[in-house]
Amino acid sequence: MASAIRSSVCPHDCPSTCALEVEVIDGTRIGAVRGAAANSYTDGVVCAKVARYAERIHHAGRVTRPLLRTGPKGSSQFREIGWDEALDRVAGAFTEAAARHGAEAVWPYYFAGTMGLVQRDGINRLRHVMRYSRQHTSICSMVCEAGWMAGAGRFTGPDPREMAQSDLIVMWGGNPVNTQVNVMTHIAKARKARGAKLIVVDPYRTGTAQAADMHLALRPGTDGALACAVMHVAFRDGHADRAYMAQYADAPDALEAHLASRGPAWASAITGLDVDQIEAFARQYCTTERAYIRAGYGFSRMRNGAANLHAVTCLPTVTGKWKHPGAGAFWNNRGIYHWNKTLIEGLDARDMSVRVMDMSRIGAVLTGDRRELGDGPQVHALLIQNVNPVTVAPNSNTVRRGFLRQDLFTCVHEQFMTETALMADIVLPATMFMEHDDLYQAGGHSHIQIGPKLIEPPGECRSNHEVLQGLAQRLGAQHAGFDMTAMEVIDATLRASGWPDAQTVLAQRWVDAQPSFADSHFLNGFGHPDGKFHLAADWSRIGPNHQGMPSLPDHFAIIDESTPDRPFRLVAAPARQFLNTSFTETATSRQREGRPTALLHPQDAARLGVVDGAKLYLGNAQGEVIVHAKLFDGLQPGVVVVESVWPHAAFEGGIGINALTSDDPAPPLGGAVFHDTAVWVRAMAAELPIAAE
Ligand code: SF4
Repeated sequence: MASAIRSSVCPHDCPSTCALEVEVIDGTRIGAVRGAAANSYTDGVVCAKVARYAERIHHAGRVTRPLLRTGPKGSSQFREIGWDEALDRVAGAFTEAAARHGAEAVWPYYFAGTMGLVQRDGINRLRHVMRYSRQHTSICSMVCEAGWMAGAGRFTGPDPREMAQSDLIVMWGGNPVNTQVNVMTHIAKARKARGAKLIVVDPYRTGTAQAADMHLALRPGTDGALACAVMHVAFRDGHADRAYMAQYADAPDALEAHLASRGPAWASAITGLDVDQIEAFARQYCTTERAYIRAGYGFSRMRNGAANLHAVTCLPTVTGKWKHPGAGAFWNNRGIYHWNKTLIEGLDARDMSVRVMDMSRIGAVLTGDRRELGDGPQVHALLIQNVNPVTVAPNSNTVRRGFLRQDLFTCVHEQFMTETALMADIVLPATMFMEHDDLYQAGGHSHIQIGPKLIEPPGECRSNHEVLQGLAQRLGAQHAGFDMTAMEVIDATLRASGWPDAQTVLAQRWVDAQPSFADSHFLNGFGHPDGKFHLAADWSRIGPNHQGMPSLPDHFAIIDESTPDRPFRLVAAPARQFLNTSFTETATSRQREGRPTALLHPQDAARLGVVDGAKLYLGNAQGEVIVHAKLFDGLQPGVVVVESVWPHAAFEGGIGINALTSDDPAPPLGGAVFHDTAVWVRAMAAELPIAAE
């Protein structure tokens, strides 16, 4: 048995984008998967779920042949067909929908099941050439994008590797132990070398919070209030860097006056944190020169998340920390890559007058909500790649109703029979990342990498790029990108974007695109035309739904507040062994996660008469979900956490957690608010909700 170690890149929806070293056995199978030790961010570490990737890629449950539905939608009744028939049927359905209702009746729908630029984003080329409806890609990061841009104005920040030079890391709104383990690597370096402290701000005691020196378990959606209190202390106690703000900020005097009434006592009433704890946090942050705030994606799951993230990014501005090594704030590096994606996405064919619909509101779209459809036609045909909206999208009972429409044709290109694939008319078997070529940028660091094809896929699986080529040929879609191999598209895109060509990147394994210290610390100015950080956000420049947003940092009180009949605040947080619904197929991940579980404070459990392991109903006007209780004192009473995304079928009753989450678009740009849900909690035998204190 011959084995070789080959380079690859983790494609999953995770900012770490790990550089991988993969054992390839006999050229046909993979064995061990390790992090590349030579990559200065990956640093030899990958998460456990990817380390055991052989279990996923060689899984017996993979879809390996095209399938035609033969039973009712949602049933498991399919029969195998050939690729030509499958693509002919899909192209035929798209052509018919466009002929009868207009091209906008077809909606290609995708997201980040793979983060590779060619295989993920190529679907837009078909969309634009065919003038199919456009997609507002709001579901993951849109809220954070808005909040970050409002202040800093440019998507970059101090090199995440600089965390190793910090004396204080504030992990705010993220749980890297579950979601991007490499952050912990760099925090560990700082703790070992410098005795650095870790403070975690999160509504519950996550694995990351367990490792911290201080955990602030605030009420969900109150981060803006906490940030205001810290800045109040900075001004009050002489830690505001007025010279820095005079040069780099727009409205320090207005902010100081505004914050005078927003001290720790005010924030305590909103966040549920003790005044002493807020004071201690503020003191530690303000008196530590090298303090690095690592903002997580939790901000992106709240109605007021944009305002909250803006408030948090004001902290290093008020205290002048941006100018120091190992200090400042970081959310995402996406602005450093200057891609020319014309070839990948067919941007030269894009018509901005074509209808755009919000992916987070796919339930509303498919059930005919005119707020989403506008003046355009109903959606009559879907092409779905890299995403599992039946399980993942919010307000999932409505999503499911939409998918069950008899006049909707659905093609799902997938690796497994997900709950979305079960709704399809045609299922196409999809490759995994080691079975095709792709190009990657990191969000949580600064490397460009190519993941080449390492092994043949099982059965008849085809890559996204190949499926799009097959459809383009049948639909008469003309674009250079359809006539090239994936590696040719990678090479041309790298060159057009000013990066080394594909052969060079493959040979050297990665390109480090991190900007200079001065640029990434904004010493040459922030991203706005005036070069300043905007303490006073102009939300009207960020997104259309900006009415009522506070310009200066504040508690933006639009969250789904608890009420007497929905007294609990639900956070639907990411589970450690899953990544959205990826890895829910593998036995090891499922065993380690156990079962759908609600973390419930012991005081709440006592009043509900619930013991550990008891069944609970969680519910609101959208639906009802059955979970098992786990008593847990690492959150405030009145907060309940369900880690997921478990498939619906894993829940008793077959209804998963996203039945409860709202598809309200977060201001100002949209975004799904998975952590912002008021619910009632009932013990199985009880008739009435019991109020939280
Ligand atoms: S930490 Fe993230 S990028 Fe790294 S292997 Fe795991 S899922 Fe992939």
